[in-house]
Amino acid sequence: MKGTLLGTGSPVPLPDRAGTSILVSVGGEKLLFDCGPGTVTRLLENGINPGSIDRLFFTHHHIDHNADFYNFVVANWARGDSQGALRIHGPSPWTDSLLESLYDIYEEDIEYREDVGYPTSGIWDIETSPINHGSVVETDRWRVEARAVDHSIETYGYRITDEETGHEIAFSGDTRKCDSVISLAEGADVLVQDCCIAPVTADPPSNSETFVWDTYTEAMPDEKREGLHQTHCDPTEAGEIAAAAGVETVVLTHLLPYRDEEVMQDAASSAFDGTVIVAEDGLEIGTETVDVTAKER
Ligand SMILES: [Zn+2]
Ligand SMILES: [Zn+2]
Repeated sequence: MKGTLLGTGSPVPLPDRAGTSILVSVGGEKLLFDCGPGTVTRLLENGINPGSIDRLFFTHHHIDHNADFYNFVVANWARGDSQGALRIHGPSPWTDSLLESLYDIYEEDIEYREDVGYPTSGIWDIETSPINHGSVVETDRWRVEARAVDHSIETYGYRITDEETGHEIAFSGDTRKCDSVISLAEGADVLVQDCCIAPVTADPPSNSETFVWDTYTEAMPDEKREGLHQTHCDPTEAGEIAAAAGVETVVLTHLLPYRDEEVMQDAASSAFDGTVIVAEDGLEIGTETVDVTAKER
């Protein structure tokens, strides 16, 4: 099993951090978790055919997790292979609404593309299914389990198991620190953890040379920070979750612009003895980048 962090950013657009998206290759299939802005571009940058994705799972329907949906679905269809149409899993009814809105808005566009030679299947036959707390989606080669986590809207974390090797990757989704995300990650090899709250770097870029989101070059006001704490984690909490869950490695993701990654790493390490990695777009987990080893089960 291999995970690729395609997008590791937040709702604030950045050139070097796309919106949230994680590709997991397992048992000969490709599973995509979230489809934030920039997902298709990142797939291409990583040499991955968008049409080779078999399933899409949504953690929740915030813009930084689903904004590339239309672009992705049409690219998936255009370069689809013979494994059948995309299957989509996510919170109901919004996952259905997203697909229905694509059909509503782009009906003529889709028909035009059919006329000019797009594949004869792979668009109208896309299937969706709702995710609830405890939902399991599985084949004989992999298993994905969903747990409700604690965010501002209905949100699920996912635990992906490679049935052949026993390797497990847990993905927190967006969440505050809660028991559910700890049990989601319990005993997994790698936890990819929301870490949206973190201090600003001491040396943020200057607006004189390039466009910069000024708001994010200064420390967040206490009130805003406390508000964010109701829906996201900071690095110390990420470390505490990783320690309580007993994972080998925690990857800190969902970064706001201009964060101090060294401070993030130290804060997480103060609570967790395992490996701490601050995510970057393109980071691979389950390969030599992170030593994921099978554990006794
Ligand atoms: Zn969110
Ligand atoms: Zn988010």
